[in-house]
Amino acid sequence: AAVALMALSGCSTRTETAGGDGAAAGFAEDSVIGVALPSKTSENWVLAGGLFEDGLKEAGYKGDVQYAGASTTVKDQQDQISAMVTNGAKVIIIGAADGGQLATQVQSARDAGAIVIAYDRLILNTEAVDYYVAYDNFKVGELQGQALLDGLAAKKAEGPYNIELFSGSSDDANAPVFFGGAMSVLQPKIDDGTLVVASDQTDIKQTATAGWKAENAQSRMDALLTSTYSDKTLDGVLSPNDTLARAIITSVKAAGKDIPVVTGQDSEVESVKSIMAGEQYSTINKDTRVLVDKAIEMVKVLQKGDTPEVNDTESYDNGKIVVPAYLLPPVIVTKDNAAKAYANDPTLAPLTE
Ligand code: BGC
Repeated sequence: AAVALMALSGCSTRTETAGGDGAAAGFAEDSVIGVALPSKTSENWVLAGGLFEDGLKEAGYKGDVQYAGASTTVKDQQDQISAMVTNGAKVIIIGAADGGQLATQVQSARDAGAIVIAYDRLILNTEAVDYYVAYDNFKVGELQGQALLDGLAAKKAEGPYNIELFSGSSDDANAPVFFGGAMSVLQPKIDDGTLVVASDQTDIKQTATAGWKAENAQSRMDALLTSTYSDKTLDGVLSPNDTLARAIITSVKAAGKDIPVVTGQDSEVESVKSIMAGEQYSTINKDTRVLVDKAIEMVKVLQKGDTPEVNDTESYDNGKIVVPAYLLPPVIVTKDNAAKAYANDPTLAPLTE
């Protein structure tokens, strides 16, 4: 009965705020706030869980932070979100395991009166997403593309340069955005012959890395080296994140080749070390602390019944609606600016000394 009542009041609240640009009537200070995160495919997700636990507690909420399992990711996350709805969560923050498979769950969240915030990854094909908070994913890709060009130019004055392209997991809505941003910079250079993708594998299906798993990038790189680089130099690799960058470097080293210019993302500890050692060329700083703070700040605003600030109402069409977004600026990091970029990060700053 409680659930049915909640659903009813949820419906009436929603009628007033349809369109996703309004807030609900506010909620109690000690409400349940759900956080559903994907499996720990990269360090940022590990960090986010702890930061949400601490930050929500400090703000007085009952945080319910869950990770999807490693194997049954999608079903785990669907069940976790449904449980959060049943437990009366007022806001559910979701880092989607598969952004295309949560429409049913977020719709029930909305029907129960909960507000849904997509965190870092967009949730697709549903009207029931109220806000999106993330680093600017297209910009991440542009910075990666530009870093690849800069790294190549620093290595060898003139092209053509042989490169290979890697993209992220096809169940992550960010993957095509990262790749699109990078290709917006690289495609003109491919067209004018400065860059040569020697394998000819240039579309997102050919370049995808299932599950963002290191072993998948490593085996694709192994295969490319055998098929295409027995008599050619590989000058650069577009890698969408650090985990995959290190897998690519491992593959190249095992083949006894020189390490190409390899991009990355996430400022993972091992990659920052690799950059300082002159191996991986670049990463991207998307400070997880700032992103989690932003999401919790949204919760506080919603709790008062106010409307959270957004700074982008155009970019994130999820197939049904354009989701109002707050986008933070990513920062490119190479050996040259690492000390400055990580100056305020107690974990990473010591690595640059
Ligand atoms: C995140 C990246 C991360 C990747 C793999 C993406 O959605 O935006 O920062 O590298 O997931 O976990």
